[in-house]
Amino acid sequence: MLRFPEIPMDIYENFHRTFRGSNQNTFNVCSKCGGVCEQNKIGTLLPGEKKYMAKKMGISVSEFELKYLDILKMDDGTLIHVLKLGELCPFLNKETEICECQDFKPIICKIYPVVFTIKADKVSFIIDNCCQLSRKKVCRNYFESVIPLLSHLPIPIEWLRHVISYDDLNFDYD
Ligand code: SF4
Ligand code: SF4
Repeated sequence: MLRFPEIPMDIYENFHRTFRGSNQNTFNVCSKCGGVCEQNKIGTLLPGEKKYMAKKMGISVSEFELKYLDILKMDDGTLIHVLKLGELCPFLNKETEICECQDFKPIICKIYPVVFTIKADKVSFIIDNCCQLSRKKVCRNYFESVIPLLSHLPIPIEWLRHVISYDDLNFDYD
């Protein structure tokens, strides 16, 4: 089983301070879209991210796991942590439709429509053209601006491969 080094807390903190993930332009587009991504994507937590999120909420990691996470076991025994599957995200307030962990939400969730691919052992971050945000220039530019920041995050390529293989197996994004 592979164990991945945890990304340090200050890196998460810095990321969220630098990139908010939404603004009035993105909000206008998303409110008309109806949240296709909420139904189809899963919020996958990066190595060490459950500790960071639990700390921000002032609860223990075990309580955080119990309330908010499902743990997926890969063929080689690697554990991948995702926001609870099956229903709407546990952080989505059903009345206001607002995300209740906006300031510390999973980075993979926050950056969408930026997604990652791996070709010939090289990781690339690209914009998912299925998302309406990709079609509005000001929004597209906004999300493209986070790509350099993402490229500097110490995310192990093997961990990314696991997430891609899990996604390919279980989700039809089209
Ligand atoms: S991020 Fe994209 S898919 Fe999700 S609600 Fe906004 S426009 Fe729709
Ligand atoms: S963490 Fe927030 S943005 Fe991500 S799926 Fe849940 S409610 Fe939506």
